[in-house]
Amino acid sequence: MNIILFGPPGAGKGTQAKYLVKKINSFQISTGDLLRDEIKKDTEIGRKIINDMNDGKFVNDEIVNQLIEKVIFDPQKKNKLIFDGYPRSISQAQNLDLLLNKSHQKLNFIFFLNVSKETIVKRIEKRKILEKRSDDDSKTILKRYDKYMQTTKPVLDFYSKNPIFHEIDGSMKIDEITSKIDTFLNV
Ligand code: AMP
Repeated sequence: MNIILFGPPGAGKGTQAKYLVKKINSFQISTGDLLRDEIKKDTEIGRKIINDMNDGKFVNDEIVNQLIEKVIFDPQKKNKLIFDGYPRSISQAQNLDLLLNKSHQKLNFIFFLNVSKETIVKRIEKRKILEKRSDDDSKTILKRYDKYMQTTKPVLDFYSKNPIFHEIDGSMKIDEITSKIDTFLNV
């Protein structure tokens, strides 16, 4: 089963992805984590992206697509992909389609966790304290939200016509969202 968790920063994608990893024995593919890892390891990619990441800007598609390709073609992860934070642009969505086709895989579900800007700001303020992420200050959050609306919203419009697309109220409690997802997955 391959699933996209879609929604603005702070919508709860990571939390639900972690749940699904255990529940259906799959892998969380968070491009944010993959990118943060490059920075932590001080790789060439890490040095290229650090400013954009700290600024709440998108990392360029070429770098993100390169990281995601490795994951999709990893035989261990085949048909066990939970995408969290990818795709975020039409070009990434097209690239994902292409890579899934090439690796003889398909998407089974797209879940859109819909949350208001106000809820997100509150949640990310809390996450900042818990996780100490350098891109989690209020100004950056608003920038990331606006960037999401601007660039990721067209991806949402693109996917929303797909019969595997389901919108979920992301302001509900974690376990309420989880049980909604379970119902769709029939697990
Ligand atoms: P996240 O952990 O998903 O909130 O992502 C944190 C940051 O990583 C974002 O604000 C972007 O700078 C970068 N990032 C993560 N995923 C992507 C992506 N698919 N495309 C471009 N930039 C990304």
